[in-house]
Amino acid sequence: MSNSLFPNDFETSHILKLHYFVPSERKLWTIIGKNNEYWVDPELDYCSCKHYYYKTLSGKEKCQHLKSFNELLKNNNYDKIKFSDDEYFNFLSMLIKDLLKV
Ligand SMILES: [Zn+2]
Repeated sequence: MSNSLFPNDFETSHILKLHYFVPSERKLWTIIGKNNEYWVDPELDYCSCKHYYYKTLSGKEKCQHLKSFNELLKNNNYDKIKFSDDEYFNFLSMLIKDLLKV
């Protein structure tokens, strides 16, 4: 994933990021993997990585992102980034565009 979702000077210190939209309080999670950044939805147990697509969907095992998600969350190991709701659809469409590139 490109860094186009963030301003150039934006620095993240964690691999897990919470994109928090106000005032609706919608949440989107992304996690940085080896070569890419993935979209994780803990409520749906969804991850946008290939492992999820090939293994998790066929019931074999959770990908490492979903596995590490709870641990990271529990330890507050994530960055919370606030967005306004105006940016939500823009953000989502960029996220999806990035996913379709893979
Ligand atoms: Zn994954």
